[in-house]
Amino acid sequence: MTFTTLRLSDRVSLIQEPGVANFLRCNIWHVRGRDYDLVIDTGMGLGPLKDWVRRESDRPLKAICTHCHFDHMGSLHEFDCRLGHRAEAAIFADPNSDAVVYSGAWTRIEVVNPTQHPDFHPETYQITPAPLTGYLDEGDVLDLGDCAFQVLHLPGHSPGSIALWDRKSRTIFSGDAVYDGYLLDNLYHSDPETYRRTLERLRQLDAETFHGGHYPSFGKARLNQIVDDYLRGEKSIGNVMDWYHNLLRHSPDVYAEQDWTGVAVD
Ligand SMILES: [Zn+2]
Repeated sequence: MTFTTLRLSDRVSLIQEPGVANFLRCNIWHVRGRDYDLVIDTGMGLGPLKDWVRRESDRPLKAICTHCHFDHMGSLHEFDCRLGHRAEAAIFADPNSDAVVYSGAWTRIEVVNPTQHPDFHPETYQITPAPLTGYLDEGDVLDLGDCAFQVLHLPGHSPGSIALWDRKSRTIFSGDAVYDGYLLDNLYHSDPETYRRTLERLRQLDAETFHGGHYPSFGKARLNQIVDDYLRGEKSIGNVMDWYHNLLRHSPDVYAEQDWTGVAVD
């Protein structure tokens, strides 16, 4: 099975790629609207994502990529409408392995279960170019007809990281600007100082539900903890290999399912 879908509400479903290590497994969000649907992030590109979404919806689709990393932009090329931030436009168009951060330590980590994905080969894995068809800037609005999302530009993890914020339901799809796990601020185009400002901005946001780019969703109290831990210097990944080996010591089954029980929202 290439994907799984978990329906969290009438509006929101979570799609994931099984067989991807759970610390790297991207949350792909399918948001249903009256006039069109959003697909927020697209995973590693291990299978045909658009076909999977089409099983549930025949409305027009807009694919939004919160940022240009390999675990988020793999299937972006499948969609006709591909939106992201202009700061990363060149990388979406020419996603070489260094630019999409599929290089260095990640290639030495078994991020994909060979039993579930026998055709995946770390040495030849490549992201298909997916030039953006339109840009999303701070303050832009995506109006789905019966709900609307405002674009927040939240750099730090990467220069073009964006989030989608629905003021009415107080829900934010935050990409890798924040999720309930260790935050990565030392990639080649990360900027820890900018990241701090992004996290402080998120703490000011009157949000109730955070749907991050990885790991189960969470509420405001947890957000405050994550931000405080990070600002204290606890929740950031210094050396990826050290972090990975430490993680293996605590939870050796990296392909285990995540626990999403209790996460139901609207
Ligand atoms: Zn990322």
